[in-house]
Amino acid sequence: MAQQRQSRPEPVEPPPRPRLADQPSRFILLEREVELEYRPRMLEALQDKVNTVAEEARTTAPGCPRCGQPMSYHDARPVSWLAHWGRLHASPARYRCSPCKQERRPLLDLLGVEPGRICGSLARRLGLLAAVAPFELAARLAQLLLGVPISAMGVWRVAQRLGQAAARYDEALSQYHADSRSEGISVDNAPPAVILGVDGCTLGMQVRTRRRGRTGAESLPALPVIEKGHFREVKTGVLLLPSERVETSPGRRSVVRRFLVTCLGEADGIFRRLYSQLRELGWVGPHTVVVIVGDGAEWIWNRAPMFVHRCEILDFWHALEHAWAFARLGYGQDSVQADRWVRGIAEDLRAGKVQEVIARLKRLRPKTEELREGLQSLIRYYSENAARMRYDEYLRLGYGIGSGAVESAHKQVVHARLRQAGMRWSEAGARRLLALRLLLLNDDWALLDRLRMVSFA
Ligand SMILES: [Zn+2]
Repeated sequence: MAQQRQSRPEPVEPPPRPRLADQPSRFILLEREVELEYRPRMLEALQDKVNTVAEEARTTAPGCPRCGQPMSYHDARPVSWLAHWGRLHASPARYRCSPCKQERRPLLDLLGVEPGRICGSLARRLGLLAAVAPFELAARLAQLLLGVPISAMGVWRVAQRLGQAAARYDEALSQYHADSRSEGISVDNAPPAVILGVDGCTLGMQVRTRRRGRTGAESLPALPVIEKGHFREVKTGVLLLPSERVETSPGRRSVVRRFLVTCLGEADGIFRRLYSQLRELGWVGPHTVVVIVGDGAEWIWNRAPMFVHRCEILDFWHALEHAWAFARLGYGQDSVQADRWVRGIAEDLRAGKVQEVIARLKRLRPKTEELREGLQSLIRYYSENAARMRYDEYLRLGYGIGSGAVESAHKQVVHARLRQAGMRWSEAGARRLLALRLLLLNDDWALLDRLRMVSFA
């Protein structure tokens, strides 16, 4: 101890331990007191209202959803479900159509609740927590914010039911818009141009083929290490209007509105969803130019022709990245010359002089085989993409030249929740959570109030 170097002389007295107040502030106590007193009364009032609805619903016998005949009364066993202020009870009449083997409890349909489950706004709030935080943390937040004790597994279950409902709606909507007979939103106010971008990354997937079962006191076997190939591609698409881009500070642009779509798996899926979202917004009129910003990945350009009026833009920074690769090869890592050389290329590209740049590259006479190959590949890349590199024009039209907005959107949708350390997903689990996150980030969360949660028997 005495040998430890001290920058300051030791004080005479040791520092006092910081003191906490003996109890929470008076106001906090008052708030809690009121909450404790009124919670049971809120529950009681809610139960009364449920009873009134039950009374009204009693008189009508439903028709069979299959044959249309009136169904016959079967029984009215009591059920309960969990809501924010506690457990609600009802004895809903059950009707049956024996020939069709159909069964219905109209009161439960009317209320939109499921026996034995967490329902209503509590379920939506738990789903919200699960959309922003890992399940363990979401459970702790539920306790702290809502005063509801729940396990991580409990939050997970709610997120699955809610996420399944959202994912199903999303899928059905894109199927609807994919059919030419379906009616889109009016395109009377369609904008002159829409910017469309896509980005992707991989998600670690679970490799379990069957559930880990607990047998006796034995602890659960460890999850197997992820092997190569147990990844799935997840893609994010972004739609925004060039006219809504604002400069928040010199050189820094942000957008007022943007709409996100996401998809686990194939490229066609993300484009189907983008198209569906465009129709839903009424953003593709007969004269709308769809501006597609891409990083050069083939799967993007291969699907671009689905839009008749389009403008394809190769992300400016990806174009420069290729110049950098060649410059580093020629001038060495971190060299001033490489920096200067790339800067020159950047300036010319930005001015729309891609053909001049290519001509200049062709005049270079590199000394080594490696450099020659590097140069050839750069020339090929710029030649193939030249039509997507008219950056002066894109800037003049206000389309922008980079895919930064897409990349940041993708990080918000996927990385911030689904790519934290050690996370692995089941296919269904990832799809459901993505659907919930999308509603949140698209400012569409209220839609969940109008969706029935999907029950997993
Ligand atoms: Zn029937």
